[in-house]
Amino acid sequence: MDEREAEAARRAILSGWITMGPEVAAFETEFAAGVGSRHACAVSSGTAALHLALLAAGVRPDDEVVTASFSFIATANAIRYCGAVPVFADIDPATFNLNPERVEAAITAKTRAILCVHQMGMPCDLAALREISGRRGLRLIEDAACAAGSEIRDGGQWERIGKPHGDLACFSFHPRKVLTTGDGGMITTNDPAWDRQLRLWRHHGMSVEPHERHAADHVICESYEALGYNYRLTDIQGAIGRVQLERLEGMVTRRRELAARYGELLHRVDGVTAPVEPAWARSNWQSYCVRLADRFDQRSVMQRLLDGGVATRRGVMCAHREPAYPQGSWRSGPGGLRASEDAQDRCVILPLSTEMTDAEQETVVETLRRALCSVS
Ligand SMILES: *Cc1c(COP(=O)(O)O)cnc(C)c1O
Repeated sequence: MDEREAEAARRAILSGWITMGPEVAAFETEFAAGVGSRHACAVSSGTAALHLALLAAGVRPDDEVVTASFSFIATANAIRYCGAVPVFADIDPATFNLNPERVEAAITAKTRAILCVHQMGMPCDLAALREISGRRGLRLIEDAACAAGSEIRDGGQWERIGKPHGDLACFSFHPRKVLTTGDGGMITTNDPAWDRQLRLWRHHGMSVEPHERHAADHVICESYEALGYNYRLTDIQGAIGRVQLERLEGMVTRRRELAARYGELLHRVDGVTAPVEPAWARSNWQSYCVRLADRFDQRSVMQRLLDGGVATRRGVMCAHREPAYPQGSWRSGPGGLRASEDAQDRCVILPLSTEMTDAEQETVVETLRRALCSVS
């Protein structure tokens, strides 16, 4: 962020309308236009977006939702907020995304929905998952937390993630993602009834939206139509989001250049596999995740990199291995979760930012090459 976001925040603060006002409404309209969805509902976080999308999809206590364990923990947590049980299907080791065959095998009579993840911004196999959800009568919800600006080829043309290609798509605007408002989230859908429901829930279930009451020439008393939540986004964040949206294409273009360059540079490094982008997918490269050959210890490599001045992160976690996921709080689909656990243990996220220079990138790759030589 720079002066442009600071100026937008200032404009919102001095406008006298601090939350759920014209900036949030404009952010929603512009976001929907950008991804090609009919509706977009702003909320306070990606997690809030997932929670409300699952509720809108009809997920209720004791239902099952098939999803990935190999994801940020909020994906599975949102299922449990609904009182439902996450059923974890394994991933494809090449793309780190759900393996559709494993998803189908995990479906039971209790399954209500599939919650797929565009992991680290890489689109998952939506065509296969949509075919399965359609045939089995299930809802398909996209955890697109990391995927603002990612694209998928659908019916011969490139479309933004969020159109949505399932029933509802959920975004996060945490600073770890490409587009940020500090904190925040968005739910896109083409169904006006769902959109209305989401707007009710995010604002305590209140029957009147703030702008309606503000514009009314007669007294309106609200009622509370449903058990709602406080999942609002502020106008300060909305104003920042609108600037970030203008920057999105430029940020994604630079990230794609850097990712392509990593691919070339890593060719020369033995023992590292670069991430795979399917022909029908264009990632926004929110994270650039490489896999280390079995002979390397992940922690030692990361430590050597840190000693050499390069900060990396362990690849994505597995929710089912965390203390918050005791036996009985989740299930695994047939075939287990070997590829998920292996990806957690073998992968390292390399630095990739819009501001990164080519020289810095070369330093990262050279430091990685030396780290691998010294630990093997
Ligand atoms: C970041 C993230 C979330 C949570 O988003 P918040 O805005 O932090 O609540 C959910 N799912 C995935 C895959 C994420 O990467």
